[in-house]
Amino acid sequence: MTDTPSAVCTPMTLFVGREICLDRECDQYMTDGGEDTGINVCSHLRQEQACETHSVEVDAGRYDPAAPWPCPHIVRDTAQEG
Ligand SMILES: [Zn+2]
Ligand SMILES: [Zn+2]
Repeated sequence: MTDTPSAVCTPMTLFVGREICLDRECDQYMTDGGEDTGINVCSHLRQEQACETHSVEVDAGRYDPAAPWPCPHIVRDTAQEG
């Protein structure tokens, strides 16, 4: 591989919130009886758009820092507007 293409920004959706929620350990993931409620994402977490290319994944599904989207690294090749 001698020809390395420049990084292309890729949008992704990530979840932001408390650690306990990201770990699926808050009370919404489990009933009082200790059973799995079957929900995928609790209401404490919020979805955010981020640039996958420029975010650094520190753990599965966790990014630090997470690049915002639209990514500031996007090269605008259209100089004209309108
Ligand atoms: Zn980017
Ligand atoms: Zn939660």
